[in-house]
Amino acid sequence: MIRQLHDKLISKEITSEQLTLDYFDAIEKKDKDIFAYLTLTKDLAIAQAKKVDDKINWGEKINLIEGIPGAVKDVLCVEGIRATGSSKILDNYIAPYDATVVRKLKENGAVILGKTNCDEFAMGSSTENSAYGATKNPHDLERVPGGSSGGSAAAVAADEAVWALGTDTGGSIRQPASLCGIVGLKPTYGRVSRYGLMAMASSFDAAGPMTKTVEDAAIVLSTISGQDKYDATSAHSNDKKFEDYLTGDVKDMKIGIIKEYLDGLETEMKKILEGVIEKYKKMGAKIVEIDLPYNKYALPVYYIIQPCEVSSNMAKFDGVKYGLRVDDKKDSGVSDFELPKTLLETYLDTRKYGLGAEVKRRIMIGTYALSSGYYEAYYLRAQKVRSLIKKDFERVFEEVDLILTPTTTGPAFKLGEKTDDPLSMYLEDIFTVTANIMGVPAISVPAGTVEKDGKQLPIGFQLMGKWFDEENLLRAAHAWERA
Ligand code: GLN
Repeated sequence: MIRQLHDKLISKEITSEQLTLDYFDAIEKKDKDIFAYLTLTKDLAIAQAKKVDDKINWGEKINLIEGIPGAVKDVLCVEGIRATGSSKILDNYIAPYDATVVRKLKENGAVILGKTNCDEFAMGSSTENSAYGATKNPHDLERVPGGSSGGSAAAVAADEAVWALGTDTGGSIRQPASLCGIVGLKPTYGRVSRYGLMAMASSFDAAGPMTKTVEDAAIVLSTISGQDKYDATSAHSNDKKFEDYLTGDVKDMKIGIIKEYLDGLETEMKKILEGVIEKYKKMGAKIVEIDLPYNKYALPVYYIIQPCEVSSNMAKFDGVKYGLRVDDKKDSGVSDFELPKTLLETYLDTRKYGLGAEVKRRIMIGTYALSSGYYEAYYLRAQKVRSLIKKDFERVFEEVDLILTPTTTGPAFKLGEKTDDPLSMYLEDIFTVTANIMGVPAISVPAGTVEKDGKQLPIGFQLMGKWFDEENLLRAAHAWERA
């Protein structure tokens, strides 16, 4: 898609301004029902588009992403634009600077249409934890788009953006990509800077592309990746152009599969996944059965360590440093609270009013697991198991180049279906959290559709790659897409 639009721009078949306006028209028509966007940035978008059109008119060369409209998840900062993280506590927060990924997109001429809805501070799997209401799945408005990057996924799926940025701490790019029928790539931890991304669980968080095609994901990744002096965990990417590695060839590539994962699926999904595996065989890849004995602990490990990091990262939202403060009726719009009298009361009331139930649940679990006496039993133990899972993967990656799994256990579920049952919501991440625990890159690619209530709902499959081997990951994903 991006390449075709790029060709139209340079051949002057369309202008970036017109393209951008067309997308705003689509948003106006569809977003009343879908609610992918929290904030639109029309002035910013048109100004950027005009700049690109001027460049083209002057005969200057432009980048592939230049002049192409996309969307940014609301946990990423865009200078001068409201950034809520879908939380009431940041309702009035204006970002004072660009996240590094946003700066890179802007510097490369990408057009930003607006900020997308998500679960509050990216905690959730359905976008229902947003303080502003749930996003709907464009394939069935009674179903969730997945989460937490559900707004970004829905925007791309509904053609309200060409590309979007999501963030992925335990699956938040890949799971909504799977449920909305698009491509979602979580890069290797460190491939992309986290500066300007509202920290949720710092040892897992990664920003990445959500797009219609694998090539588009590669183009966006090339734009946003690289070392950043503001993020000490970011790594050098040597200005790689990931789109140049998409040869369509997977001959002799070794792909690991885990039999129990497939056997656990419902028949229709299993058939689709087996079809994908067959196709890879036909293309010349070698399918190898692998086992990862410690991986069954991935979900519990994630749901111990992740809340621990959340509880620490959320401490800064105290009514003093950022956003909402419940002692100022005028700013907060809070009228049903008595005015707090002490500093502690300000903290407590601000957090009580400003944070949603899921965020509070994680703060409590994390604080408990980190507290003296429980630290060794929970946090430390989870970290030890994390090391064991990592050893599993290091061993398996000596045998295979990639690991293929489902992305989710099923297609999009109904709105409200899991909101009263946090554990069933957490189970949504069973196939995706591992890549974050390890830090390896992983992608979800559309695999097919299954029928539910007379509607065709998309599902994806997941490929995980070796650390910093996005090239082979994208190459294999692209080969399937082409086949
Ligand atoms: N659904 C997972 C969670 O709620 C993952 C979230 C994410 O990747 N941001 O923790």
